[in-house]
Amino acid sequence: MSSQDVITVIEDVAEMKAYSNALRKEGKSIALVPTMGALHEGHLSLMREGRKRADILVVSIFVNPTQFGPSEDYNKYMRDREGDLEKMKNIGVDAVFMPGPDEIYPPGFQTYVQVEELEKPLCGALRPGHFRGVATVVLKLFNIVKADVALFGQKDYQQWKIIERMARDLNLDIEILGLPIVREETGLAMSSRNAYLSDQDTQRALSLSRALLEVKSQFANGTCKTESLVDSGKRVLERASVEDVDYLEIRDGETLQNKHEATGGDVAAVAARVGGARLIDNIIL
Ligand code: AMP
Repeated sequence: MSSQDVITVIEDVAEMKAYSNALRKEGKSIALVPTMGALHEGHLSLMREGRKRADILVVSIFVNPTQFGPSEDYNKYMRDREGDLEKMKNIGVDAVFMPGPDEIYPPGFQTYVQVEELEKPLCGALRPGHFRGVATVVLKLFNIVKADVALFGQKDYQQWKIIERMARDLNLDIEILGLPIVREETGLAMSSRNAYLSDQDTQRALSLSRALLEVKSQFANGTCKTESLVDSGKRVLERASVEDVDYLEIRDGETLQNKHEATGGDVAAVAARVGGARLIDNIIL
């Protein structure tokens, strides 16, 4: 067994803090990749980069109840502890922090973080409380793991921008990195929720990335009016019979403000329900 196959599994907060404190005392730097498990290549790409960025690589696996709405998929969200540990072999993960919900939210818990403006549009408008739950748990993970650098996927673009803003606003001593979306060969953005899709749903789901590519190509061809760009993307979704579209919008890449005219660096983002899954994707113009 190579040393890379030995992953320390930590389930409680005190033990995680002690692990990190001891390493920091030795002068070691720590990278953190926060996940909800059901790992795929998107998660693994963050881990591989994390491995390069610090002496110690910690992955957290926590399906965070406070970021799920009452009618969302918290209970049915996939949990695959053994499969996840297997996938992390050979990546060089030093420790996995897998707390239970009561460990993170003990009785009496009542403190939350809100990134006020960035959480309003896009997914925030449709998932009330979602980003409050995300920001809160991520800040807790930062405090528990004491990482120097944390890696996030641009797949969850709004989440990435919210965490960046939180780190800046609260003077956190942590570097936030956002890494490119990992896709299937078909273009479908990898997601743990793709497991909910039937074969037929998967075909329809491909229209999300295709719609974004259409927006980007129209923009490259000189169309700047966001309304026209959005319409061109929506037509792609319609043709694939994706009717349950939460949004397809173009927003400023940093502030997430609405735009009438698109400029380079803006983000085109889409969220839609296909079969039983709510899928999101985005592309930078
Ligand atoms: P999740 O387990 O869905 O909470 O995701 C954990 C981290 O992995 C987040 O930073 C996500 O943005 C990132 N991630 C999820 N899917 C992908 C993907 N297809 N490509 C890159 N990063 C991803």
